[in-house]
Amino acid sequence: MTPPPPLTPVSPLLLLLLFVLVSSSSALLYDTFLQCLLNHTQVLQQQQEPSQILHAPTNSSFPTLLGRTSTELRIRSGGHDFEGTSYVSRAPFLILDMFNFWSVDVDVEQETAWVGSGATVGELYYRIWEKRGGGGYGNMLRKYGLASDNVVDTQIVDVEGRVLDRSSMGEDLFWAIRGGGGASFGVILGYRVKLVPVPNVVTVFRVAKTIQENATELVYQWQNVAPRTDNDLFMRLLLQPVSSKIQKGAKTVNASVLALFLGNADRLVSLVNEEFPELGLKKEDCAEMSWIESALWWGDFDSGVAVEALLDRMPKSVNFLKRKSDYVKMGEIPMSDAPFPHRAGNLFKIQYSISWSEDGIEAEQSNLAEIRELYNFMTPYVSKKPRRAFLNYRDLDIGITDNGENSYREGTVYGVKYFAENFKRLVKVKTAVDPQNFFKNEQSIPVLPSKVPNMSLQLN
Ligand SMILES: Cc1cc2nc3c(=O)[nH]c(=O)nc-3n(C[C@H](O)[C@H](O)[C@H](O)COP(=O)(O)OP(=O)(O)OC[C@H]3O[C@@H](n4cnc5c(N)ncnc54)[C@H](O)[C@@H]3O)c2cc1C
Repeated sequence: MTPPPPLTPVSPLLLLLLFVLVSSSSALLYDTFLQCLLNHTQVLQQQQEPSQILHAPTNSSFPTLLGRTSTELRIRSGGHDFEGTSYVSRAPFLILDMFNFWSVDVDVEQETAWVGSGATVGELYYRIWEKRGGGGYGNMLRKYGLASDNVVDTQIVDVEGRVLDRSSMGEDLFWAIRGGGGASFGVILGYRVKLVPVPNVVTVFRVAKTIQENATELVYQWQNVAPRTDNDLFMRLLLQPVSSKIQKGAKTVNASVLALFLGNADRLVSLVNEEFPELGLKKEDCAEMSWIESALWWGDFDSGVAVEALLDRMPKSVNFLKRKSDYVKMGEIPMSDAPFPHRAGNLFKIQYSISWSEDGIEAEQSNLAEIRELYNFMTPYVSKKPRRAFLNYRDLDIGITDNGENSYREGTVYGVKYFAENFKRLVKVKTAVDPQNFFKNEQSIPVLPSKVPNMSLQLN
């Protein structure tokens, strides 16, 4: 296996130079984008401006200084956290930006790729496509699991400033950072991921129906079919309020099924018509393409756009937004395999999503009230004790900590929602590797307080 990009040993003199403010034009462009994000993060009220943005250099190791600075550190890779925990804070803080760690190194022979923590998914897809011209690592979770299930090695800088890989960090910490939120344990420099095969031709479709076109039956059947059908088929359901075409001024609900199939259109149409006739799928609804083209399709790029569009780090638009998540009671992977616990017993995940473009507190409050009302309305229909949530869809509504003396109690509130029983093991790892709680944010893994001799969890 090709070793990860080397980090040269650090000399004492270099300590002062370790975090340099990069002034290349691409970094500046990126900062403009991130400043834009700062202006659009509404949920963390009373946020502070970062005292400094430090771009971590790739050509030296991280210092022991890391654990000694009293200023709170926010680590930022892509900056896509839905609540901005990588770039805003209530406490005075500085940002350690991993932008420079964006290299992707594909090892065709070993069928792995080293992915720097600053790389985007688009860059990863593009580099795999460039080297292999086809198959690759993807978001085909029904067949291959989550990205974190495919991580085989990693590099992390711990609170002592040591650069550790899988063998030197040990299996407990390796387990924790494959889904437990890196921000609680150290600075992750990159991951080595397993590549998976995909066919030369994949097929996508999007079929939409309104309530008047029997969307209700379609949604009902989707719940039965989507979690159980052939693992080559991933079908996502999107429910959106839209203006009625029949009654002027009225609203209706539009249900769209968007799908990726690892095979050709003929096989797909015959499978769907047998298992899911309510969808009424026809071959003309389907588009056959290469896997890399399907990544552009999912990313909502204009048709015919060059694959290089995946390398663009600037978003098409930035709105105000809020996301929340739920699980409906999947999978074949045991719950304890990685921190992500929502496996056997779950049918699907729900993402509640609201975006708006009007500036100001009034628009913010009314949009937040709307999504919270929907979330409350769904309570009887989703997972309970604990009601579960997906860490990647960060939602500060489900509990936060100020990392004070109650951090363990506060952390348990959101911790069991994100990690269920795996929360206990995450707390143990955290307590062992970062007992002073240097790596923290509003929803980090707390340290086990010494006054709690036997840790127990309240699952409610
Ligand atoms: C438009 C959009 C689409 C999305 N689609 C999906 C999707 O399809 N599937 C999905 O699963 N998720 C999706 N997400 C959520 C996204 O995967 C998560 O927000 C993810 O955490 C973003 O990673 P990032 O590096 O950009 O985040 P950042 O904001 O940089 O960081 C996220 C958290 O990790 C910490 N962190 C960042 N870098 C490091 C590091 N190097 N070491 C240690 N800690 C670190 C940060 O401090 C922060 O707490 C989407 C988000 C957006 C904005």
